Amino acid sequence: MSFRSDIFWRSACGNCPDCGKPLRFADSSTLFQRLSNIPDTCSNCGLVLRRKEGFFLGAMVWNYGLIAFGVLPIVLFSVKQQWLSIDSAVKLAIAVALLLPPFIHALAWRFWLGTYYGFLPDQLPSGGRRLDD
Ligand SMILES: [Zn+2]
Repeated sequence: MSFRSDIFWRSACGNCPDCGKPLRFADSSTLFQRLSNIPDTCSNCGLVLRRKEGFFLGAMVWNYGLIAFGVLPIVLFSVKQQWLSIDSAVKLAIAVALLLPPFIHALAWRFWLGTYYGFLPDQLPSGGRRLDD
C-alpha cells in the first residue's frame, strides 16, 4: 500500500483531492458554515466529499488526535516548565477539549479526506490520475 502525499497536501490545503480546485461553498452559506464545515460536493468536478453515513468518523479521529497529541502536550509542557499550576492546567485542558473541536472541524475534515484518498486514490473519479499527467 502506498500513500499519495500529493493528494493529502492538496486536500489539507483546502482543495479538492481530485481536481485540485479550491473547495467553495454555496453563496447562501453562513460564515460559521464556512469556518466549521466543508461543502457536500466539489463545485468543480462534483466529487462527493460527504460520503455514506459513518464517513465522518475519520474526521472525528483527526479532531481528537489534533487535540490530544497536538494541543494537550503543550499544556503539559507548560506545567512541567511551571508556567501553569496544576489547577490552571486542568481547567485549560478541559476548556480546550470542549471548546476547540468545533473550530478545527473543517481542518480535521480536510486531513481526513487527504488521508482517505491518499491511501485509496483509485476511489477518486479520476482514479488517482496525477494532475500533471
Ligand atoms: Zn473537484
